[in-house]
Amino acid sequence: METAAAVDTKPPVMVLDDDPEFASFVAAAMRRAGYQPVVAPNHEVFFRELTDEHSIVIIDLMLPGQDGILVLRELGKLGFEGSIVLVSTVDVRVLGAAERLAAGHGLRLLGSLRKPFQVSELLDVVTAKPPPLVKKTAKKTIAPVSAQELKRGLDADEFVVHFQPKVEVQSLEFVSVEALARWAHPEKGILSPAHFIGVAENNDLIGLLTATIIRKAFHQCAEWLDAGLRLRVAVNVSTRSLGDYDLPEWFEEQTREAGILPHQVVIEVTESWLGKDPLAMLEILTRMRMKGFSLSIDDFGTGYSTMLKLKTIPFSELKLDQSFIRDAASDAEARYIVESSISLGQKLGLNLVAEGVERQEDWDLITELGCDEGQGYFIARPMRGRDVPHWLRRWQAYLGKA
Ligand code: C2E
Ligand code: CA
Ligand code: CA
Repeated sequence: METAAAVDTKPPVMVLDDDPEFASFVAAAMRRAGYQPVVAPNHEVFFRELTDEHSIVIIDLMLPGQDGILVLRELGKLGFEGSIVLVSTVDVRVLGAAERLAAGHGLRLLGSLRKPFQVSELLDVVTAKPPPLVKKTAKKTIAPVSAQELKRGLDADEFVVHFQPKVEVQSLEFVSVEALARWAHPEKGILSPAHFIGVAENNDLIGLLTATIIRKAFHQCAEWLDAGLRLRVAVNVSTRSLGDYDLPEWFEEQTREAGILPHQVVIEVTESWLGKDPLAMLEILTRMRMKGFSLSIDDFGTGYSTMLKLKTIPFSELKLDQSFIRDAASDAEARYIVESSISLGQKLGLNLVAEGVERQEDWDLITELGCDEGQGYFIARPMRGRDVPHWLRRWQAYLGKA
């Protein structure tokens, strides 16, 4: 049974700091505020003394040997459920990275303080409401499909295309769609690319998959055209299929067969650029461009989509990766990356597309920064081709155009 006194008692607190003067300053401040501090000068003492009773730990990031970052990892492994305060002299960007690590380890971070700080600042942080404990959920495991199963699905024509609208930022006009592969699996339901793109790439099936998706996307585009809806269609092409010198002719043939024009097609170049013959890729992509296809550098800013590619290959569009867009409204560094990518793209005369626009503030930001097109859940989720005209009617009604 809880008594009022028990509720009032402040919990024991661990202070991990190798600087004895600073540790006693923190401990004294905490004691005066009614807590029961225990000082640990190093990692060993800290973990020896730590119990479930310690509902707050105050950790100095800069420790000789086992630094505070390693301590966070170990606390994460232990499933520590108390609150954490980070203390350091390191610059704010390092402190920011440490905060992300703490969150990544599923720890409850109360806040961080840069040394030196006032007692009042310390107390503001330790008395803050702890964030809810986010149980580290095992990452949704994506059950891998076998290459055989994938081949069977391709042969049985189980792959379909979903389309995600992209709209012009200034006019709000619906201008294009991105074609995204989906597997309508007879037992597992609709599977997203995470389940099969990797398997396809590693088993020489990506060419067949890409060809299937592109054919279907082009035919859908032609159907819309017949219905009076002129849209550009963007298709994802993994660089694994870019070793094929005949690809420009193949693309041209597919547009002719479907009855659309190369100008209506945007080729989004994705995935690993490693181990490719750069000269072959340069030739293939340059010839695509000469045939009238638009070339988009996908996921710009991540892994393989580098400045060098931008300089070498005649891209006509730059697609900003959704990870930057997602953070840009709240994180200054992500915003700088978005800003400078946009300014770079503008100088190179590229069409600028922001993906992963999920919220009003993302939309406001890309508008302010001068992006040309936006794509994301804020506008529309990927949908079946036959649902696109209906979505468009609602979109136009929303714009007051219907
Ligand atoms: P991507 O090219 O970056 O495509 C955008 C992905 O982001 C899509 O995931 C889309 O559904 C998702 N998305 C769109 N808007 C939002 C948003 O506002 N928030 C969030 N959180 N996500 C959003 P999807 O369909 O699962 O595709 C994943 C990746 O698979 C694609 O990333 C692309 O790299 C690859 N992919 C898809 N279709 C094909 C294909 O036909 N061929 C090849 N080679 N790769 C494909
Ligand atoms: Ca893409
Ligand atoms: Ca992307």
